Amino acid sequence: MSAPTPRPGILDIAPYKGGKSSADSAQRVIKLSSNEGALGPSPKAMEALRNTATRLHRYPDGGCDVLRHKLAEKYGLEFDQLICGNGSDELLTLLIRAYAGPGDEVLYSQHGFLMYPIATMGVGATPVTAPETNMTTDVDALLAAVTDKTKIVFVANPNNPTGTYISDAEMKRLRDGLREDIVLVVDAAYAEFMTGQEDYSAGEELVKAGNNTVMTRTFSKIYGLGGIRLGWCYAPPAIADVLQRLRNPFNVPLPTQEAGAAALDDDDFVNECVRHNAETLSWFRDEVNAISGLKAHPSYGNFVLVEFPAEEGKNADAANDFMMARGVIPRKIGAYGLPQMLRISIGTKEEMEICLQTIKDFVNA
Ligand code: PMP
Repeated sequence: MSAPTPRPGILDIAPYKGGKSSADSAQRVIKLSSNEGALGPSPKAMEALRNTATRLHRYPDGGCDVLRHKLAEKYGLEFDQLICGNGSDELLTLLIRAYAGPGDEVLYSQHGFLMYPIATMGVGATPVTAPETNMTTDVDALLAAVTDKTKIVFVANPNNPTGTYISDAEMKRLRDGLREDIVLVVDAAYAEFMTGQEDYSAGEELVKAGNNTVMTRTFSKIYGLGGIRLGWCYAPPAIADVLQRLRNPFNVPLPTQEAGAAALDDDDFVNECVRHNAETLSWFRDEVNAISGLKAHPSYGNFVLVEFPAEEGKNADAANDFMMARGVIPRKIGAYGLPQMLRISIGTKEEMEICLQTIKDFVNA
């Protein structure tokens, strides 16, 4: 029996594989594979979530009005230009559905987030990558890769998995170099982890200063709420209008909206997460860099790339297998073109101590 045939290109998509959450042979599992919240979910969000149980027969507010009002107030943004999504993944996908189609190109950096090509190929458009310099988005390379078919440019800032960022001045230079009919998406999923970089902001000023720049954000990282699927974006009025037309009527579940709104009030938790991440990331990098043959790259996110030697038995694949057998789960990033590295999310201090010891045991084995 033959099966129905999907549209051309769909079967070329490599499915997104999330970080593994179990390691077969180990009882204790330390999951450092998906850049989740090290300190668990926001306590205020958990409380709000419990309070939604008796109202689950109701549809959610399709417009996410309460949440958008809170976001508008907290960040000083226009309510009408905010759109919430089922994770920021949904918003990235909607942007692509709205602005690209067969024959069009969607451009991003060499080691860009995997959802960009997946969503691009899903609409029959062509993903195009530009080289990076020192594992950092290279504005000149992106501008050089623009063609008359380019419809969208994505820049994750800071970027996953490289952990690097570009300054506001560089982002503005990119925007100024693009035709006005190209949408520039500043994917700021990890913005809150940036501490003390005065040349960086998440992108709202650039959105305000033009008609073609969109900033996307998420509750999955700093608020520890990846499981509720909540993202938002800030877009110029015409793009916001397009996204509102395209989204599903009730794209953000009721518990998600209420937990998200509560999390926005959880400043103590957020501050502790930022402090914990900065301190633990810096400590972990120093410790890994002290191990002969390994390199922990600089990172501005809640994860770090650890580079292993090329030698068989000592390389990233072998390290991954060794760690998995001990119940420590890193992320292999061959799909991002970085097979010599593992991406390790920052967990609790105790988890990172165990992770570090496991890496030392691997190197000394
Ligand atoms: N952008 C980047 C750069 C990411 O790393 C991620 C999560 N892995 C996302 C967007 C999507 O996050 P979410 O859908 O959970 O909001």
